[in-house]
Amino acid sequence: MSNILIVGGSRGIGAAAVRTFRSGGDNVVFTYHRSELEADALRQETGAIPVRCDVKHSDSVKIAVDKAISEMGSIDVLICNAAIADFNLITEITESRWEEIISTNLSGVFYAIRHVLPSMISRKSGCIITVSSMWGEVGASCEVAYSASKAGVIGLTKALAKEVGPSGIRVNCVSPGMIDTDMNKDVDDSAVSEIADETPLGRVGQAEEVAAVMKYLASDDASFITGQVIPVNGGLI
Ligand code: NDP
Repeated sequence: MSNILIVGGSRGIGAAAVRTFRSGGDNVVFTYHRSELEADALRQETGAIPVRCDVKHSDSVKIAVDKAISEMGSIDVLICNAAIADFNLITEITESRWEEIISTNLSGVFYAIRHVLPSMISRKSGCIITVSSMWGEVGASCEVAYSASKAGVIGLTKALAKEVGPSGIRVNCVSPGMIDTDMNKDVDDSAVSEIADETPLGRVGQAEEVAAVMKYLASDDASFITGQVIPVNGGLI
């Protein structure tokens, strides 16, 4: 049984991760930002503990981390899942939207890790799982800010794995392909079908399929894996 903090656990892949870890008997604290009703329903369904947090702000993340430690005693596994997507030509992205995407998707990961790491280092053990995207690996047209933020998450993961490996802490990244969640609700059906057709497995993925990889990376079965980017994309890239 482990103590898990899932940052961005109210919907989609994060909510699937809450269910997966809880069904395995782990203690789970998860954060939500806007989806209070969904977070409360997930609490009732799974017994996991929700805490409000805006990852764009370091202080808000610290409150969530402190709450997780006070509820569970420690954090064995940190999952940095919160993110927003944006579809726009680079010439149309405003500077404030750029800042919002980088703050949420990249700085938010930095804040969570910075607030959790000291306790992991003092215990000389821990597991951190970041969430990138196949677009962070290969880039997506009209998703320059999102792709840049997710490429940053990959760089952060690889560098941090080297830095904290000697402290017994593993850091890995899950890199999903197209997954059926709210994040893609504005993508038109023909674009989704096109991606499914180009995918060797012939479909988009489900949130539970990403959560299963998180569960594996958090387990002792992955005890010699660190600094890696694990694609969950049906073979698309
Ligand atoms: P969803 O849009 O379904 O959920 C996003 C989650 O992030 C929600 O729990 C949301 O909380 C949280 N969040 C967003 N902004 C903030 C914020 N400022 N502070 C705190 N929490 C925030 O996305 P997915 O489940 O699809 O995506 C999960 C992860 O997987 C993301 O990192 C995404 O980039 C990545 N990914 C997803 C893919 C896909 O096709 N779905 C493909 C590749 C990567 P709330 O609702 O409470 O505001």
